Amino acid sequence: MKFVFLRDDDVFSLTEPGFLPFFELAGRYSIPIMYAVIPGRLDEDTAQFLRERYLESPHSFDIVQHGLSHLNHNPNWFPKYEFGPGRDYLVQLEDIQKGMDIMEEFFSGVWKLVFVPPYDGFDEITLKVVRKLGFLAFSSDEFYIAEKGLINLPYTFALNDYAEDGHPIPIPFREMLRRYRTSWVIRRRLLGILFHHSVLKDPSAVFELELFFRFLVREQEKGRIRLITVSSILPRLQIEGKKRE
Ligand SMILES: [Zn+2]
Repeated sequence: MKFVFLRDDDVFSLTEPGFLPFFELAGRYSIPIMYAVIPGRLDEDTAQFLRERYLESPHSFDIVQHGLSHLNHNPNWFPKYEFGPGRDYLVQLEDIQKGMDIMEEFFSGVWKLVFVPPYDGFDEITLKVVRKLGFLAFSSDEFYIAEKGLINLPYTFALNDYAEDGHPIPIPFREMLRRYRTSWVIRRRLLGILFHHSVLKDPSAVFELELFFRFLVREQEKGRIRLITVSSILPRLQIEGKKRE
């Protein structure tokens, strides 16, 4: 049996195409989601919506921090990162702290101390800052992070592709399934799946994702996986982490 978590990135506005269809679909199939919120772009209505839904049903999703404003600070443009080379300790500290302040203002007592770096970009300084600021966990595409004391929650595959300019584009159900099966072999206990709701611009993309959600539900019914919020397993991960030290 494996634990499976889903992460949905770039949450900041209810009015953004794809967000509400995704939120509704995940709720309908009782699939727990880690919503990675961009604090610097978050609007008040969206914050209130998430806060209220969370309080109604706190086990159905997690709210976590996705950088500050999701800006690209690489002077050479690629690879994109908000936090990474050329951004020194104090600059990273200040920006991530600013993001935390906004998270705290809107989601006090509700959000979880997981940091998701925009574009999966980070360096050793980012990890030090994140740890220093009290985050418990870090989630990117990196399976190994050196910083001690941070729980690593990498995702193994994405339920979308990327266009040349970097914006997420949808993939068909059969490709989702292929990636799931490949990842199943790689990951022993914890399987992270990344999604970008912005790809759900038309009903056919929603339909393909719904097929995958149905598949996940069947996998869970067979006892092969357990769909979880990351916060529900964080205490366990922490205890196991301590045992290993
Ligand atoms: Zn992002």
